[in-house]
Amino acid sequence: MPSCRVCQGEKPEEFLDLGAQPHCNALLDAEDADAPAYPLKVFFCPDCTTVQIDHTVPKEKMFGHYLYVSGTTETLRRHFADTTRRLIARLGLKADDLVVDIGSNDGTWLKTWKPMRLRAVGVEPAKNLAERANAEGARTVNAFFNRSSAALIRRQDGEAALVTAAGVFFHLEELQEATRGVATLIGQNGVFCIQAVYLGEMLRNTAFDNIYHEHLTYWTVRSLQALLARYGMEIFSVGLLPIHGGSLEVLAAAEGTRKVEPSVAGFLEAENRNGYGDIRVYRDFAARVWKTRDELLELLQKLKGEGRKIFALGAPAKGATLLNSFGIGRDILDCATEVNPLKTGKFIPGVRLPILDEAAAGVPDAYLVLPWNFLPELLRKKRDYILNGGSFIVAAPRPALITKDNYESFAGSDA
Ligand SMILES: [Zn+2]
Repeated sequence: MPSCRVCQGEKPEEFLDLGAQPHCNALLDAEDADAPAYPLKVFFCPDCTTVQIDHTVPKEKMFGHYLYVSGTTETLRRHFADTTRRLIARLGLKADDLVVDIGSNDGTWLKTWKPMRLRAVGVEPAKNLAERANAEGARTVNAFFNRSSAALIRRQDGEAALVTAAGVFFHLEELQEATRGVATLIGQNGVFCIQAVYLGEMLRNTAFDNIYHEHLTYWTVRSLQALLARYGMEIFSVGLLPIHGGSLEVLAAAEGTRKVEPSVAGFLEAENRNGYGDIRVYRDFAARVWKTRDELLELLQKLKGEGRKIFALGAPAKGATLLNSFGIGRDILDCATEVNPLKTGKFIPGVRLPILDEAAAGVPDAYLVLPWNFLPELLRKKRDYILNGGSFIVAAPRPALITKDNYESFAGSDA
């Protein structure tokens, strides 16, 4: 691969090749030709320990028009409202303080600051989402977050007390420029809050379906620290949140301006102990991915052999990775069902699976659950379906069939 996205080191080493795949969110219309496929290979940089993919699909192609809408998911809305209350108390934010949200999507998070009378502005490259957020009163700049959009906000609104990046920091093609922009915006007094899927949890859950072209980098505390240090920032607090199957919440500020909490050393020591700085851990992960494929295909083919009708539940980005990496196509699945009207009527690229409106699609014998990170919410929603003899199939953390007999053991806490 070219040099490392974080440290520019020249020796990133490949440990997983998921084959050529289309951009996962490039959903097709019926008349569209197949989407172009790009390499999806994952590398480990021995110099700064950052895990990353080598191929960059141009950001305009991936994020100019975006179909993932945060507000669709109840779990996410609640998560952002909780985070806002927690950060206000924790950081002592007050009325008129400025909060800047990177990749603010439809403004779901932005809106939560308003009742507390903070000023909030989002930066969102997708025109459709920025327009929607602005129409709903969540002030949004339609741009990619980088040094120049950061400078624009600083000129217009002053320094930020808080810059947030939830579920977007691994998307950044202009990683160095964006990080520099954050450092400028928070100055000596502000805080940068990153929430990102934790590589440690991805490894623990064999959640390889988090790997797709939109996710250029996969973070540990150590690799984030390496990046932030290049721009004079340091991490002063780390926590793990249940959202998206296990996300890091990192708080950082200008070096030396905050007391570094014991949680930082705690995470760094655990990462060291778990070998996240060693390529062997990633080779083991790759082996588990292929074992998951074998077990999942066996389960699906068994059900199919018994004449069962199987739908995919949901059509999230990670679902395209799962289906295309494992070759699960229309010989096994009839369709995917969705509640997001931006997706229904389209096709998942690669496998070309039609996406139908969930309410109109009928009821299969089993659903392959693609957004397994929202499994508890989905289990609650489909409780009657399962208790009446339907099934869920999940791929991670390991392939499993959920029926009325084991429903309770999976329906536990939120993930
Ligand atoms: Zn590196």
